[in-house]
Amino acid sequence: MPFSDIIGQERAVEILRRELSHGRASHAYLFSGMECIGKKQTALAFAMAVQCGQVPGDSCGECLSCRKIRQGIHPDVRLYVPEARTKGATEKIYIDQVRELQATIFLRAMEGKKKIFIIDDADRMMDHAANALLKTLEEPPPDSFLILVTAFPDLLPLTVLSRCRVVRFKPLSSSAVEEILVLKRGLSAEQAGTMARYSQGSLGRVLNAEAGDLVSQRDRFMELRQRWDPGSVGSVFEVSGGFEKKTNEAIDFMEFLVTWNRDLIAMKLTGDKGMLTHADNAPDLAGESGRKDLTDLLNHADILEEALRRLRMNINQRLALEAALIRMGNEAAV
Ligand SMILES: [Zn+2]
Repeated sequence: MPFSDIIGQERAVEILRRELSHGRASHAYLFSGMECIGKKQTALAFAMAVQCGQVPGDSCGECLSCRKIRQGIHPDVRLYVPEARTKGATEKIYIDQVRELQATIFLRAMEGKKKIFIIDDADRMMDHAANALLKTLEEPPPDSFLILVTAFPDLLPLTVLSRCRVVRFKPLSSSAVEEILVLKRGLSAEQAGTMARYSQGSLGRVLNAEAGDLVSQRDRFMELRQRWDPGSVGSVFEVSGGFEKKTNEAIDFMEFLVTWNRDLIAMKLTGDKGMLTHADNAPDLAGESGRKDLTDLLNHADILEEALRRLRMNINQRLALEAALIRMGNEAAV
């Protein structure tokens, strides 16, 4: 899709358009920001803008080149994604994928003006694959662009990060999620509104679930949260026991706790219900935030962020969840 079709990432798109139209585009970018907010689509829009030539600073979205990029068959626009090479294995980007990129990047473009290489989920690169890529990042050929896309830039080696121009993508606003759901998914404004409220800034969350599912999932998490007694380790095990093999559910629960905690902080600092993700639970939030100390809530935000990072890295999910809940309980007891 052209830049002009990307919703909710105006700042990132503007930076890229400006750099492209002034001939100042970097040959190595890192697009960073949470999952499912339009980073990969923007990388493809960048590729279309480079190759198309019909619309200054953007692409037409209609010509042969644009259509080939959209279909993933343009020979000068290559997308690398993590692969699971054995059944059940974690998806990784392997060194032979990087070697293939390196073999192609020094060849002349076949159809387009330039060559664009996009590495999605770049944080999943194996160490030696990242090391191999370094050489290319140091001196990318002038007729090529490399775009690394990641939700977890801190998992990439600093040597890789430091060679890329970083473009940050922010979480989508509720209204942007709503607009995307209405325009691209044909939902009614009411359905889109309900789903957007629970999206927490990520479109992936709502695209993978129906509105009713999200609401009932939220209710279940609320119930689990209430069962968790911060002073009791036994209750922590009771909560975490429900997630033993359902890894994504543990992550969803943790993300729910993050938004709940964020709402507690917002209530404490501003009392403004308009800022809340869980606005329909404003009375509960007001009561709880009144009983809690701001320093504890801020500490909890750090604990939750670290736990979420560990959960996503596939470290023992149940342990990470339990450790976070126990640490938060200890804070409350101090
Ligand atoms: Zn075009």
